[in-house]
Amino acid sequence: MPAKTALVTGASSGIGEATALKLKELGYTVYGAARRTERLESLADRGVLPLGMDVTDDASMRAGVERVIAESGRIDVLVNNAGYGSYGAIEDVPMAEARRQFEVNVFGAMRLAQLALPHMRAQHGGTIVNITSMGGKIHTPLGGWYHGTKFALEALSDCLRMEARPFGVDVVVIEPGGIATEWGGIAADHLRETSGSGAYAKQADAVAASLSSEVNAKRNSPPQVIADAIGKAVTARRPRTRYATGFAARPLI
Ligand code: NDP
Repeated sequence: MPAKTALVTGASSGIGEATALKLKELGYTVYGAARRTERLESLADRGVLPLGMDVTDDASMRAGVERVIAESGRIDVLVNNAGYGSYGAIEDVPMAEARRQFEVNVFGAMRLAQLALPHMRAQHGGTIVNITSMGGKIHTPLGGWYHGTKFALEALSDCLRMEARPFGVDVVVIEPGGIATEWGGIAADHLRETSGSGAYAKQADAVAASLSSEVNAKRNSPPQVIADAIGKAVTARRPRTRYATGFAARPLI
């Protein structure tokens, strides 16, 4: 049998980068996908195959999966990791931005699952790993749109697990806690931009401070913790349905 193949989205930083390297270390042929392909160069130096992909663009996702199949003939692991936190008061987040976040965090992930499934069914096996969040289990103020995406991804993953199981396809949910990546700084920027002034400014100040890159770097677990959980999930004979790990030493707010 040829080497097993994995496709990891959001591989240009943080959890995706660490996961691509982990799966490479485990012997997979790994495609690391992201929009910022220049950020994939260091992974390419370490044997990960760079793949330009925008998970809001159907043609880009189709081309990516077609390339993996054309070159490797199979897709054993799909890690849907690309995502971001568009923080802000529910009242303040523009609907276009709320929709964009669902496009990336939910529709991108599930469209890639749709594209990978026919190949996984034909192979009689595969693992789809969806990165949700502890934010897919709990609620916090000013994170409503983000939580909405992660709750949605949890539900879709749980339904898909039941549908895909008869074909030998496992669906695993990973629920990271606070992880030291660019995620917190990006979420804090969105928060300040949308609710930094106006009725929610006081709440926004407190939440933005807790999400800032400085706090993030000091308080949170390294992305390798999540990469290790994913490594465990894809090598288990019967993976657990969810791996909740990487909780911060201090609460979010
Ligand atoms: P990073 O910001 O470091 O990485 C996010 C990745 O998503 C980047 O590689 C980015 O690549 C990619 N991405 C964003 N938008 C798109 C798009 N439209 N198309 C393709 N790729 C895209 O954050 P993390 O590593 O922390 O985040 C990874 C996942 O983990 C996310 O789903 C996040 O919600 C989740 N998570 C993170 C937590 C944390 O504390 N860090 C906690 C819980 C969950 P590029 O911009 O190059 O396309």
